[in-house]
Amino acid sequence: MPVSITSALYKKDGEVRELRVSEIDSESYNKYYKGHLFCTTPNCEARLEFVYSTSKPSYFRTWKHDNHIENCIYRFERIENRAGINTQYIIDVEISPERKRKALKEAYRLSQMTEEELEQRRKKRNLNRKKTKTVGKKKREALNIVLNKNNNESGLESGGRRGPNLLKRNADALNDSDVGKVRVLIGFIKDVQYTESSAIIKVQRKNKTVDVKFEEAFFANSPDYQGLFHYIRKYINEQNKVVFTGVGEVRKAKNGDNYEFVVYKGDEFTIENMSLLMLASYYSR
Ligand SMILES: [Zn+2]
Repeated sequence: MPVSITSALYKKDGEVRELRVSEIDSESYNKYYKGHLFCTTPNCEARLEFVYSTSKPSYFRTWKHDNHIENCIYRFERIENRAGINTQYIIDVEISPERKRKALKEAYRLSQMTEEELEQRRKKRNLNRKKTKTVGKKKREALNIVLNKNNNESGLESGGRRGPNLLKRNADALNDSDVGKVRVLIGFIKDVQYTESSAIIKVQRKNKTVDVKFEEAFFANSPDYQGLFHYIRKYINEQNKVVFTGVGEVRKAKNGDNYEFVVYKGDEFTIENMSLLMLASYYSR
């Protein structure tokens, strides 16, 4: 949850004093305090500004472009604001299994579209985006999508708050801004490698390859997927252009400019619109 800032350190000409938000009004702020208010966390040099509101209590907010130190409780990640939205807090939200399913389906549908269809879709979306442009500055939290990597049930989209859309990326379109983020990956399966406790699916599009990794956490969350990856090998040997879609985290590969994609749960990827469990049962009928 966002932490609201209700006190600040006033520092000027060697004087240091803690100020509660209740001790300040717009007039005294503009006259004395503006530019001299700092975060109260020791060693944190982030500047604060006073925000006056008639509808709710006034508060302090972090000065534009200033950052709190690593362990400051007011620290929040800065992201580029979309026009008209004044982003103040970043809240982590977890995507529900239902939305993951839908995102994977939609990703598969996109993989079946021609370049012309995709172009048309882009144009339509840009048009809609223009229509819904916000007027004036609107204050709201920025929502950051996270994956539940340990299979616990906490932190799901809750309180009527729906997380933002999952961004879909073709394997050739990943870039540095995706690193550390949750994305939906789309591409064709070139190869698959596996051991008892790990697997890599090589996903390709337009000569760019992404290693999709299934590591210890994956098999801890989804033990029934152990020993099934050889079915993917079988399937790609029989079929032409098998589509992979997955929800996971983007990493930079240790060597080179390539990216890796980490999947944490069995229901977070599909092979030609099927789960691996479905594919396995198709072969063991
Ligand atoms: Zn701070």
